[in-house]
Amino acid sequence: MIYIHIPFCKQKCSYCNFHFSTSLNFKDEMLHAMKTEIFLRKDELQNKTLKSLYFGGGTPSILSVDEINSLIDEILKYFSFGNDIEITLEANPDDLNKQFLKQLAGTPVNRLSIGTQSFFEEDLKLMNRAHNASEAESSVKRAQDFGFENLSIDLIYGSPTSNLEIWKENLKKTVELEIPHISSYALTVEPKTTLENWISKGKIKSPKEEEQNREFYYMSAFLKDNGFEHYEVSNFARPGFYSRHNSAYWKYQEYLGIGPSAHSYNGFDVRSWNVANNQQYIKKLAAKNLAKSEEILSQEDQFNEMIMIGLRTIWGVDLLTLKRKFSGKIQDHFQEEIKSKIKEGVLIIENEHLKIPEEHWFMADGIASDLFIV
Ligand code: SF4
Repeated sequence: MIYIHIPFCKQKCSYCNFHFSTSLNFKDEMLHAMKTEIFLRKDELQNKTLKSLYFGGGTPSILSVDEINSLIDEILKYFSFGNDIEITLEANPDDLNKQFLKQLAGTPVNRLSIGTQSFFEEDLKLMNRAHNASEAESSVKRAQDFGFENLSIDLIYGSPTSNLEIWKENLKKTVELEIPHISSYALTVEPKTTLENWISKGKIKSPKEEEQNREFYYMSAFLKDNGFEHYEVSNFARPGFYSRHNSAYWKYQEYLGIGPSAHSYNGFDVRSWNVANNQQYIKKLAAKNLAKSEEILSQEDQFNEMIMIGLRTIWGVDLLTLKRKFSGKIQDHFQEEIKSKIKEGVLIIENEHLKIPEEHWFMADGIASDLFIV
């Protein structure tokens, strides 16, 4: 699978610490550089049929449809697409106007991941989103009118402008709109964000963990009652609508990341990442050099990663793979660490898979990190 990072946004959301620029001055140079990177890395993933191509960001929908198509064409020159390839475009509601959607419907893009975040004005204002509540709703309907059925929306819970009643309304609206996939995250206060600044100056209250916990479990129960499967801590899908792209990440498959700050993984022991700086990326690629650094993952790193990712999913961690991959020393550590957690009921073993029971998923990262080798 291939991930393409589009490092531009219209404005900066208050909670965001992703890599992007709000200036489009070097957009053409950036697209050119990405095409050069695609060419230079054409031998990676060789002999593999792509199952997924994912445009993330940043805001991929800030590009014109012609620009998106030109990147797809470039990929097609060097990689082969499976018949049922999933091509996802992350899009912001304010970009999904009729003209854009009409054109996009004529491209191979067959899945949209819409950055809705909330259907409530107060939440969107606090988040400094570029769209309003009415666009949050109308963008979904318009996308469906243009034939995009494979839709996902992002929702953020636990905002200080929200409460359980507002959250219930957000979820009700999502179900009414017949959206088949939801990615939902708690509002977190990342360092050096506007949100952190406002909280430190006392302008707004910090998100409350108990409230987020309540909203998380309400969401899980409500969406399951409405036909969704909770297949990863932050992801829900109706049957047949799991994100193929994300599922492949969670199953430790190989992926290639194009664009500044994009990460790649060889499915085994090498992880690499591109420089998170638009100018440096463009400059390197202009000289036909890759802008990436890489690390060899030690046995311990691979073990920690497998635990971290696997325990967040309904599949859990495959104990037979774990046994095959890791040395006796790591096995001993693992067997020792899981004993007390199984006793506490926060870990279970089912069909040779280690899992966290869903009622403890809100704490999944903490439970997983207790098993790490440091
Ligand atoms: S649109 Fe997405 S990437 Fe851009 S600032 Fe907002 S949250 Fe961050």
